[in-house]
Order: sequence, then structure tokens, then C-alpha cells
Amino acid sequence: MKTIVIGAGIGGLASAIRLALLGHEVEVYEAQATYGGKVTELSLGKYRFDAGPSLCTLPHLIDELFLIGNKNPREYINFDSIPLSHRAFFNDGQTVDISTDFETLIAQCAEHFTISQTRMRKYLNFIRRQYQLTAPHFLDSDSLTLSSFFSAKMLYAALRYGIIKPLSTVHSVNARYLQDPRLVQIFDRFATYNGSNPYRAPGILTLIAYVELGLGAYMPKGGIIAIANALYTYACELGVRFIFNTKIHRIVTKKVSSTICVQGVCSDDTMVCADAIVSNMDVSLTYTLLLKEDFARFPFRLKKDIRRWQTQASSSALVFYWAMNRSYKQLDVHNIFFSSDYKAEFSHVFDFHPTDSVFHDPTVYVHVSSKINSEDAPKGCENWFVMLNVASDRGQDWDSIAQDARARIVTKLSPHLDLTLDKHIVDQAYLTPRDIAGRTLSAGGALYGSNSNTIRNALIRHPNTSPYVKGLFFCGGSVHPGGGIPLCLASAKRVAHAISRGYQGQ
Ligand code: FAD
Repeated sequence: MKTIVIGAGIGGLASAIRLALLGHEVEVYEAQATYGGKVTELSLGKYRFDAGPSLCTLPHLIDELFLIGNKNPREYINFDSIPLSHRAFFNDGQTVDISTDFETLIAQCAEHFTISQTRMRKYLNFIRRQYQLTAPHFLDSDSLTLSSFFSAKMLYAALRYGIIKPLSTVHSVNARYLQDPRLVQIFDRFATYNGSNPYRAPGILTLIAYVELGLGAYMPKGGIIAIANALYTYACELGVRFIFNTKIHRIVTKKVSSTICVQGVCSDDTMVCADAIVSNMDVSLTYTLLLKEDFARFPFRLKKDIRRWQTQASSSALVFYWAMNRSYKQLDVHNIFFSSDYKAEFSHVFDFHPTDSVFHDPTVYVHVSSKINSEDAPKGCENWFVMLNVASDRGQDWDSIAQDARARIVTKLSPHLDLTLDKHIVDQAYLTPRDIAGRTLSAGGALYGSNSNTIRNALIRHPNTSPYVKGLFFCGGSVHPGGGIPLCLASAKRVAHAISRGYQGQ
């Protein structure tokens, strides 16, 4: 059986591996010159940066790809665990370490915030239970409907533990449990891990914090890029063929009775036939651009969903890569400099105005991979990945926004670190939502497909099997179960299950 994968992002690579292991002949068509999609790297002289993701969680999902092929994952990739989730900085100079070990974290929170150890433990147990009860259900199904999510088992759990409160938000749950506004802010931030607004995202998403704080934060040796490198090497060993610099323009279909079935893909005028097609391209763009000729025949419901996905995009990012000519012992690997008005900052990101620049007091994330991968910067120097959450691209003037953002970031960080900070940035590159959209063909440069600001968006994404085109499957951050490396890996598993159960085309 021949399967074509469109796109070599993490979801595309993992799908190709799983399908090759099922015995398929797999070809991956990638528009760019290399694999990895948003997982990419860049260099400024002797400084190396992971240009996209900086945090790795649930590494067992990566290992699983090797284990199912009877390979030892440690021959392809190795991970360091990172003891601190992040160091939190507040505008008045308060600094708090947030550990990835529950007992240490409980002690840290009780020391720095107005919360007792008992109450903190109760909250952490609550998010652990939320994760344990819902995650397997969420990750191991091809798609969800609200009725399947609120199944008998879930309703039992909801009643017994009070974990699902449909009208709550991440913020309202955190505020009720944690009370101290700064502690609430620290836990609200985890909603940004799927590009959402904690003041709107459903309360169930407080479980995201458990993934990092309960199950650990990791960094692959060699950086996040090592994940893409390992998957690509393994896929090649399994015989997957990669065709780079080749953008797919059309999915060719044929009608069998009243069903639309895949036949193949076209990159230019040549058609390549396939029994099944897996799209790692943004789902809305797959339907609107690659299936343009079939679009009129799709039901109104799909067109409505596409509009929803595109208008309710997740946040995007403005990232600076700074080559620093000195090191800062005040910083850890992951550092968050919080805004003093988080609610207004999220409104600024999600209630979009085209003329806006960045929020006047933005939350700034500074990741310094050279603190664990010393070869990422020259001795005594550091590579700073500095990120702001921003709106997705709708034609803003990103170059002028970046100029303004740099000045605001320097002003915000200087009192904490060094009043001459600006002078120590010896080289710079930056990435805008426009670049992300252009390089990975993601609608608006959204990092995680659509946002999860409603319970519907959070739980019900497009399924991994197309209900509209037989033989078409979807993986990656824009479809079920969602964005971020672990969920993209989970989507590939769902695709392989669906195809092996015989859902191919023709
Ligand atoms: P993508 O990375 O979206 O790649 C899709 C690929 O398909 C691209 O290579 C594109 O060129 C190709 N393609 C698309 N259309 C076509 C076509 N028509 N023909 C041929 N090729 C095509 N996640 C985390 O887990 N942790 C983090 O810390 C984190 N931080 C992030 C920070 C930034 C700045 C960014 C940008 C993302 C971050 N993410 C993070 C999100 C994570 O990177 C993504 O969710 C994930 O990598 C998306 O993978 P994907 O499978 O959806 O493919």
C-alpha cells in the first residue's frame, strides 16, 4: 500500500514512521528544504538556537516510536531532565523557583506565597487526578464529541472528584484554589501551552500544568532539534522517501458512487498516485487550498468549522534570538518575567486590533539552552531565546512591532539582570507570526492551530480521519488531539490506527 504524507513536521515524521512499520511504501513531500516544520534551529556565528519549541514533555511518546520498531530509543535520542520548570520574576523584584518535583514545589509555594502546604498539595492532587482521568481518554480516541467526552465514566469522575466544571475557566479554578494572585498567575500561564487565554479557556485545562510539574520537563541532548533529527534518521532507515522543496498544490480525488476518494497528489503538473494521504498541513488550508475543486461539495458544517478554526486561532509568537556576550547567573534554563496585568495582556493578544503593537508590559519568556547544552554558546556567553505571546498574523507591520518589542523587553529585563543589557546583545535574529505562517504554512502563524478558549475548541478538533474524503487522514497541531510536540505525536498514532483498521481510499 502506498501512502503519501504531506509535510515533514513532527506529526508527519511520526506518521511516516508508524506507517512504514505497518509495511506501507511511504513518501513524504515537504515544501521546505528540510524536515521538522516548526521544530527547527538557527545559528548566529558560534551561537546555536532552537528556533521553535524549547520545552520537551512526555518524552516516552518519542521513545514509543522506536520501541514499536524494536529499536533502542537511546541509540537515537537522549534526554536530560530539568529540575526547574521555570524561574518566575515579578516586576517588584520578587523571584521564585518553580520546581518539577511536587514536594519541592509545595515547599517553594508555601514559602513565597500566601498558601499552606496542605492547600497547595490539594491543588496539585486535583490537577493530577484531572490528568489521570481525562488524558488517556483524550489521547487514545480518534476524535471526540462532547457526548463521548462526557461519557458515563467521565460523568462519574466529574461527580466524584468535581474535576469538570463546564462553566469554569482556568483562571477561575486557579483563583479559587490558589488565591494568591501571583501563584494564580504562575498556574494560569500553562494555558498558553496550547495558545489559549486562561481567562476564557475551560477549567479542565488546568491539567496542562500537571504534564510539566508532575511528569517532568526535559531537554534532548543536542537541543529540541534532536527530536526531529532522530525521527528523520529512523524514518530513512525504515525506507521512507523524503522529497524536499516540493509543495503539494492539490489532492486529486475521484468520485466512487457518492463518495469522494483520494487518488493522489500534484506538486506541479505531475500526479503521484497513492492509496492513502496523510496531511500534516494545517487542516483548514488542506480543505481550502488542496481540495479547492471539491470544496463546493463539502457540507456547510465543514465550511462553518473552517471559518471557526481560522477566526479562533491560537496565539502566535514573536521570538528574538539574542547572542549575549556574557552570562547571567540570575537566570535558569527557563525564565518568565510576568506582566503586572495578565488579564489585560491576554485581551491584547486575543482581542485583536491591527494597529496594535505588543502589550505595554508584556510577559517575557527567556530560554537559555546553553545553561544545559554548553556547546550552544561560546564559553562565558549565552544564547537567549526571548519570546512574547502575540496575536496571529493578520497583516500587522511585524518589523516595526519587533523594534518596539525589543525596546520594551530590554526595559523590562534590565532592572532584574543588568542595566547595560542592551549592549551585551551582540547579534540578533527574530521570528514573527508572518514568518511562521510562511515557513510552515500554518494559518496566521498560529502555534497550535485553533485556540482552546471554549470547551468546544478545547476538546473537539477535526478528527484524524476525514469524514468528507475517503482515504484522507490528518496529523499535526491543527487536528485532534491538539498542538505541541506530544499531541502531534499522539495524532500520528491515531492516524496509523485508523489506516490499519482499513479506512483507506478507493
Ligand atoms: P508543523 O511544524 O506545522 O509542520 C508542517 C510541515 O508541513 C512544514 O514543514 C510545512 O512546510 C509542511 N507543509 C505544509 N503544507 C505543505 C504542502 N502543501 N506541501 C508540502 N509541505 C507542506 N510545542 C511544544 O511541545 N513545546 C514548546 O515549547 C513549543 N514552543 C513553541 C515555540 C514556537 C516559537 C513555535 C513556532 C512552536 C512551539 N511549539 C511548542 C509548538 C510545536 O512546535 C508544534 O505544535 C509542532 O511542532 C507542530 O508540528 P506539526 O506536526 O503540526 O507540523
